[in-house]
Amino acid sequence: MLEKIVIANRGEIALRILRACKELDIKTVAVHSTADRDLMHVRLADEAVCIGPAPSPKSYLNIPAIISAAEVTDSVAIHPGYGFLAENADFAEQVERSGFAFIGPKAETIRLMGDKVSAIEAMKKAGVPTVPGSDGPLPEDNPERVHAIAKRIGYPVIIKAAAGGGGRGMRVVHSEASLLNSIHVTRSEAAAAFGDDTVYMEKFLENPRHVEVQVLADGQGNAIHLYDRDCSLQRRHQKVVEEAPAPHLDPEARAQVLQSCIDACIKIGYRGAGTFEFLYENGGFYFIEMNTRVQVEHPVTEMITGVDIVKEQLRIAAGQPLSIKQEDVKILGHSFECRINAEDPKTFLPCPGTVKYFHAPGGNGVRVDSHLYAGYSVPPHYDSLIAKLITFADDRETALIRMRNALDEMLIDGIRSNIPLQQEIVRDKAFQEGGVNIHYLEKKLGL
Ligand code: ADP
Repeated sequence: MLEKIVIANRGEIALRILRACKELDIKTVAVHSTADRDLMHVRLADEAVCIGPAPSPKSYLNIPAIISAAEVTDSVAIHPGYGFLAENADFAEQVERSGFAFIGPKAETIRLMGDKVSAIEAMKKAGVPTVPGSDGPLPEDNPERVHAIAKRIGYPVIIKAAAGGGGRGMRVVHSEASLLNSIHVTRSEAAAAFGDDTVYMEKFLENPRHVEVQVLADGQGNAIHLYDRDCSLQRRHQKVVEEAPAPHLDPEARAQVLQSCIDACIKIGYRGAGTFEFLYENGGFYFIEMNTRVQVEHPVTEMITGVDIVKEQLRIAAGQPLSIKQEDVKILGHSFECRINAEDPKTFLPCPGTVKYFHAPGGNGVRVDSHLYAGYSVPPHYDSLIAKLITFADDRETALIRMRNALDEMLIDGIRSNIPLQQEIVRDKAFQEGGVNIHYLEKKLGL
């Protein structure tokens, strides 16, 4: 096993990784900014290194500082968590070149999947269903061809930046008249935001659900899926509630897509935990991108399968083959996750500040992944996620009742949170039925 690792992240995921390390007897080094000295995992880690001031470019995105921390502490590996440097191929490369294991895929895989055009190309070759589209970048200075591509795909279409991410660098086009201008604008935005003006075109699906598949692969020829999650409840492309398994899927299409994800992992030599994201509409799956890291919503999959995804990541990074076989992965029940953010429930503006009182809910089938404690000050510099409330039960209805009760039990004083919004969502009739599309929440909120 790995002897000692650096946890290159903060907040709930840093604590989550620390817990997995303790179970596996791995020593931990917390690296933190000056604003994060009081984080729970910093207190619990074997060692802590301050890597810079509060702004993340100077700390959590500071590659030399993180690698130096690994060096001075004699660590053997670095876990990037999610966000920050988790999908930065240059970081992965530098970590490995400096003699440490990167707890994630190889840099070349991150690079392949980070460019959406090359990712889609690779997926197609592996038999993963993709959105009908331009089959590669849109040509520059060839308006006739571009018009012909859009006509073949059929309006509405969406223009997307190959290097895009975080819901940015996309534009929907409803008719021929605005096509060229939209491409032009998306190109300039992509050049400014991502330093790459490559754009491509896809059919715009009007009412899809967001369904994703969790995979684990050991880079030694073994890959398994851990079934699917539905993350359609979103606001501004940010997930708000997730569940596993995804309800009401076409069984045949589902079985095919799960198998295609395994095939793709083997074909691209995938290593670590990963997620294939799909849009799901009218019984069909359409690949949109792959996340080459652990995701915020991984606990719902852990709850329904009993597999500890972070422990598997650590084992894989230590060079061990997968500890589970596909036939051993069973769906044991249903799970929901509500993201609890330090934000105003109506305006969604971040609300940092000091937590005066915190009561975490409990009971059968309730899990809280959170770094909060009474007296903790949520700094203004980072993401507003302060807790993940997760419930599990044999069936979906009971898991949802447990979520309703757990939300009612959860008390946070001193800062505002989106608990009232989550309480409203779990009481929503259509959500209780399951299978709402990605526009549902924004429509319900009148956005
Ligand atoms: P990002 O990397 O920025 O998250 P994605 O490719 O994952 O970009 O797309 C983000 C979101 O944009 C999707 O969850 C979906 O809501 C919307 N979207 C992307 N592609 C399409 C499409 N072809 N049709 C409809 N909606 C889309």
